[in-house]
Amino acid sequence: MAFFERIGVPLKTERGNRVFPLSDSAHDIANALERFGREKGVRMLHKRVTALRASDGALTGVVAEDTEISCRSAVLCAGGASYPGTGSTGDGYALAKSLGHTIVSPQPSLVPLVSDDDYCVEMQGFSLRNVTLRVFDESGKLFFEELGEMLFTHFGVTGPLVLSASSHMRDYDKHKYHLSIDLKPGLSEQQLDDRILRDFKKYTNRDFANALQDLAGHTMIPVLVRLSGIPEETKVNSITKEQRRALVRLFKDFPVSVSGPRPVDEAIITSGGVSVKEINPKTMVSKLVKGLYFAGEIIDVDAYTGGFNLQIAWSTAYAAAQSLELE
Ligand SMILES: Cc1cc2nc3c(=O)[nH]c(=O)nc-3n(C[C@H](O)[C@H](O)[C@H](O)COP(=O)(O)OP(=O)(O)OC[C@H]3O[C@@H](n4cnc5c(N)ncnc54)[C@H](O)[C@@H]3O)c2cc1C
Repeated sequence: MAFFERIGVPLKTERGNRVFPLSDSAHDIANALERFGREKGVRMLHKRVTALRASDGALTGVVAEDTEISCRSAVLCAGGASYPGTGSTGDGYALAKSLGHTIVSPQPSLVPLVSDDDYCVEMQGFSLRNVTLRVFDESGKLFFEELGEMLFTHFGVTGPLVLSASSHMRDYDKHKYHLSIDLKPGLSEQQLDDRILRDFKKYTNRDFANALQDLAGHTMIPVLVRLSGIPEETKVNSITKEQRRALVRLFKDFPVSVSGPRPVDEAIITSGGVSVKEINPKTMVSKLVKGLYFAGEIIDVDAYTGGFNLQIAWSTAYAAAQSLELE
């Protein structure tokens, strides 16, 4: 933070210790870094690196389109494969592999999830706040549990909770994941049942479908009614205790099946990448090729949203730069 303030980007800290430029503009960060580089004498080529050269286990050069650069050291920091429009097309993996590095299979992470449940489309644009999202696999193993916000879309679900959950989900071919949303995490089943009973007393002569307005959003009510199995025209005063229990369970365990992630180009980050086993964690230098360094998302490390991925990029770049200086 001190560094960015010093190079002319005032910052602000928002809820959850998330730090942003005061202007909310990512360009300010990029421009400041570029300005800082130029001031320090960095020459920028803006060319695509197409090959790395090495001989006898040591780096000898970099090929950038029509330009061949002889060098003893290079930092490979070409990012992942997400949002290719920002330049990170996955090139870096092939470059690292060409010099013998192992690439842990790149996968979309911090990515929206696709669901075949038709009610997601029906509720598209509808957001849930203060819900608990849980992710289970086919064996019922819990992978993720957190309170927060999420959103239904035309393809499935997204939003902060879903993005975070996705970073715990891998191998969609092997696992059949499903989501469980606790729509009332602040209430125990008993408390929720009492609450529903109170509402049912209040709306005693109404049809069931018209008695949920205090408990659920307008968009969600038809879906809840359908999934509850209680016919919508049932009069509230004739709903049985068993039916009410089923409704409570639905509020506490609203199901969404997952058929997979959205494509990697829609993922905030790419997990996987150059195996950390082949990188010295202090210097970021390759254990296989002398003079080859790595920084940022190309490495097989990833984290939640909230600045942690940028921190990975900056911290690894800093470590690489420090050790380059000593060369
Ligand atoms: C929409 C979005 C929002 C995000 N929000 C956050 C956030 O709020 N907080 C957070 O911590 N992280 C966030 N991230 C993730 C974060 O931006 C990345 O993890 C981080 O930028 C990775 O830094 P990097 O330098 O390793 O790679 P990148 O920032 O991807 O940079 C890689 C660079 O390498 C260049 N390159 C690639 N291939 C070649 C080649 N062959 N030759 C020459 N150059 C090449 C690319 O043009 C690019 O400039 C967000 C990502 C996205 C897409």
